[in-house]
This record gives sequence, C-alpha cells and structure tokens, in this order.
Amino acid sequence: MQSYGKYSNLPRFPQCPMIIIQQPDAVSSKISSIRQSGKKIGFVPTMGALHEGHLSLLRAAQSICDITVCSIFVNPTQFNNPDDLLKYPRTPEKDLALLEEIGCDIVFMPEADELYAMEKPMQIDIRHLESRFEGASRPGHFQGVCRVVNLFFQIVQPDDAFFGLKDFQQCMVIQSMVEQLHLPIRLHFQPTLREEDGLAMSSRNIRLNEAQRKAAPIIYKALCFLKEKMEDGHQDGSMEEAKAIISSEKELKIDYLEIADARTLAPYDPNNVDMNPVALAAVYDGEVRLIDNLLLK
Ligand code: AMP
Repeated sequence: MQSYGKYSNLPRFPQCPMIIIQQPDAVSSKISSIRQSGKKIGFVPTMGALHEGHLSLLRAAQSICDITVCSIFVNPTQFNNPDDLLKYPRTPEKDLALLEEIGCDIVFMPEADELYAMEKPMQIDIRHLESRFEGASRPGHFQGVCRVVNLFFQIVQPDDAFFGLKDFQQCMVIQSMVEQLHLPIRLHFQPTLREEDGLAMSSRNIRLNEAQRKAAPIIYKALCFLKEKMEDGHQDGSMEEAKAIISSEKELKIDYLEIADARTLAPYDPNNVDMNPVALAAVYDGEVRLIDNLLLK
C-alpha cells in the first residue's frame, strides 16, 4: 500500500498495492498515467462509513473496469442541516481496511478546501428534479451533490461511474448532469443492498439505538405492501394503509411516502400507461432520517 497524506501510517496489508491519495492534483496525475496504458477506470464516490452496499458498487466496478477508484468525502455542500453534517458517521480506518480487503486500487480522500479550490463554474439545470422528495425536503442538497460529483468527475475522469439506486432521485440528478455537460462517462445504477430484515443498508444506520433499529425495517415492509397492492390491481387507495403501517411504530415519523413516475418523478397517474410507478419514502427514526424506495412494477 502506498499512501500520501494523513493516512500514510496505515500499512495493514503491506503486500497490497492500494494507493491512498489526499491531493486532487496527485490523484489526477496518477490516474492519467494509468489511463495512458489503456486501462479502463471505474469510479465509486462515497461519504465513507462503508457497508456492503458500497462494496457492491466496488465489486460492480471491478467486474468491468481495470482500475477501481473510490472516493471518501463527507461533502459539506450537500448538507442543508449543520447538525446532520456534524453527526454523519466517520470511520476512515475501518473503511480503508475494507477497501484494501476488497482490492480497491486507489482511494481518494480529499480535504474540502483543496477540493473546492479547483471548482470551475458549471451550468446545469436540475430544477425539474429538485421540486419534490429529497429536493423539497433538503433545499440545496442536489446542488451540492452535483458540485462535488462534477468535481470528482473532472479529477478522476472515469470511464464508468457507479451509484446506488437506494438514492433513486440522486441517480436521476447525476444522469441529468452528465447529459447536460456531455460528459463521456457511462453511469451504472446498482440495486439496493438490504439487511436480512429488509432495512436498506445505510451509513446512517449506525446512529440508530436498539429500539430505533428494531422499528426501521417497517419502512421496507410498507413499500412491499404498496407493491403487493399494485400487483393486485389496487392502483391507489393503499397509501393511507401503508402510512399507517409505518406510523404504527412510535419511533417513526414520515417525512414523505408517495408513488411517483420513475422516469420523471411526477405524481403517479394509474391511467397513464407510460408511467412506471416507484414508491419513495423518507422517514425519521428518532432523529435519524432514513430513505428508501421500491419500483412497484
Ligand atoms: P453514500 O456514502 O451514502 O453517499 O453512498 C455512496 C454510494 O453508495 C451512493 O451511490 C449510494 O446510493 C450507494 N449506496 C448507499 N447505500 C446503498 C445500499 N444499501 N445498496 C447499494 N448502494 C448503496
């Protein structure tokens, strides 16, 4: 393992060639020299506190790319709530051990000042995706996501980039950004990995206490209930029951639970055969906000 910067004293697997880099310039030049030998670069951006869901993205990258780059960066510009940023789980040493074990090639762990110093103005319009769900609940969130992902794309210049459908709306936002900026990057949206009881894996799950953790899987149960109802031909009318399922747990408070068109996020119209329904949920479990979604057809 080669390291540059503050993680330089973590030689856990000396035989492992994983490289940890903090400086944006250093990562760019390392990757461009690799690219010159014709290798295909796969990129997985994360905010760390890694779990199997993140690792599934890395495995997907490894399956089609020669070199896998993972970034770990808790991006301040995408947090609309300062307390949420402060309490976001950070487990860098465990993350690096997991990445070495899985055989990641390059880990990019920038500092915010150095990263944003490289930012160039960008013209994109994601208003059509920002008015609902995460966009409405977290003003400015997706602007921050676009800023950081675009910066990463400029620095890493990946051939392929991997994102989780757990963040369904984020996938749509990134897709729109890549199209508007004409970036030559193939996007891959991977399925959501879940705990055995159905809870979507998330870095935030670490923050749940025992009672909150026990309550959390009901969110997925409510989504599955909506899917069953949809398959049985109940296009609407099941929403109040689904909300009641979640609200039956006293720890849980619904931010939103709605069915939308998976292509546009417009409200789902059962009479419009072109629409593909997806149920989207954001639920407070104590003070931890969890999101999940499920395609209903
Ligand atoms: P995060 O560290 O939460 O920003 O997530 C980094 C990437 O991992 C994003 O593309 C997420 O959508 C993806 N991801 C997070 N949780 C899961 C999961 N349970 N299954 C699959 N991908 C996930």
